[in-house]
Amino acid sequence: MKMITRQDCQSLDQQDQLATSRDEFSIADGVIYLDGNSLGAMPRQALSQAYQTVEQQWGLGLIQSWNDAGWFDLPYKLGDRVAGLIGAAPGEVVVTDSTSINLYKALAAALQLRPDRKVVLLESSNFPTNNYITQGLLAQLNPDYTIRYAEADDIEAAINDEVAAVCLTQVHYKTGRLLDMASITDKTHRAGAISIWDLCHSAGALEVDLNACGVDFAIGCTYKYLNGGPGSPAYIFMATRHHNQVQQPLTGWWSHAEPFAFERDYRPTPGIGQMLSGTQPIVSLALVNVGLETFKQVDICALRRKSIALGQLLIDLMEQRCPSYGFDLISPEHAEQRGSHVSFAHEHGYPIMKALINAGVIGDFRAPDTVRFGIAPLYLRYSDIWDAVEILHEMMATGSWQNEIVTNSDDADPESGRRPTRVT
Ligand SMILES: *Cc1c(COP(=O)(O)O)cnc(C)c1O
Repeated sequence: MKMITRQDCQSLDQQDQLATSRDEFSIADGVIYLDGNSLGAMPRQALSQAYQTVEQQWGLGLIQSWNDAGWFDLPYKLGDRVAGLIGAAPGEVVVTDSTSINLYKALAAALQLRPDRKVVLLESSNFPTNNYITQGLLAQLNPDYTIRYAEADDIEAAINDEVAAVCLTQVHYKTGRLLDMASITDKTHRAGAISIWDLCHSAGALEVDLNACGVDFAIGCTYKYLNGGPGSPAYIFMATRHHNQVQQPLTGWWSHAEPFAFERDYRPTPGIGQMLSGTQPIVSLALVNVGLETFKQVDICALRRKSIALGQLLIDLMEQRCPSYGFDLISPEHAEQRGSHVSFAHEHGYPIMKALINAGVIGDFRAPDTVRFGIAPLYLRYSDIWDAVEILHEMMATGSWQNEIVTNSDDADPESGRRPTRVT
């Protein structure tokens, strides 16, 4: 393989048609942010939007802002915007609640569509909330329900006519493996089951086409690639053909047909609104809109091409500069089987990542041994990847990562695999 130089990377940056998107984000000098798949970087507009929502809409508009500033309609308005990024139609998505809560609602609705079946299929190594929420819901329902766990290679073989719902994450949070949504959804339907897809690590980084694949339900968060801000509300998709066929269990007043009639008994609003439950955090919802604005001029296919190119660059540079330091690529080698992050296993992954973060290269660690580098193509440069690998090389060559004293305080994030412990 030809040696890749920093100059090569700089000329790729110069030719990059998405390069100007970076200007929409606030990223501190000296930081190479490789964790946009966990918490997206802050769009510059976020501050002025927060200011406007708090100072003007809340401070001055007070309660009138529910109508005047469109607060009440925000879950729908934002849902329609998300729909455009995931191959859904307007009126099929709302932004509300968390991914975990939306999974509960989607799965409960899916199971109502298959009352005679009692098996839910999950990927065993999925991000735990998906397993935990399923376990929690099934414990509420009845003891006949069981979970069938499969690993990625065995999923299609595990789908049969006992399965009510197949609930999978399109891109695996650790390995970055991209599942074939079209093929698995097709298999799911041929077995008579309902498909639910979690798009947390795919939406905003690659093409997702829910309706082309015939997906029934989908969920995902807005704080990763969609740049909605810490803990920002998630979204839920329900295909139009299921609207008014099922009732999700968290039947709060926001999904009532006439929320302001204050009737005693629940009646669902028609359409996707039935997936709402209660009052939403409006300041955070307003910031979701800012995050989605960063995709406004962006062609998702071009974004995917850049994501693949950056990911491949990282893998090639790791081979070129860090071949003998004990990093094993655990992400798929072939770009078309990879989402937008690249992970390596290393027995000292934890202190190495701590040292990298201290040097301004912010990736993350997932227990027991995975260092993970998120590639957010909206704001990463080719030269950032080069610099990151160079810093890692330097650290490994000199052994300086071993100086890292790990303290007991930081790094709780929604996916962090482990609490820090003292390692030296
Ligand atoms: C990030 C992530 C979630 C997040 O769930 P929350 O309810 O926002 O904590 C769920 N599922 C997967 C696969 C994720 O990667």
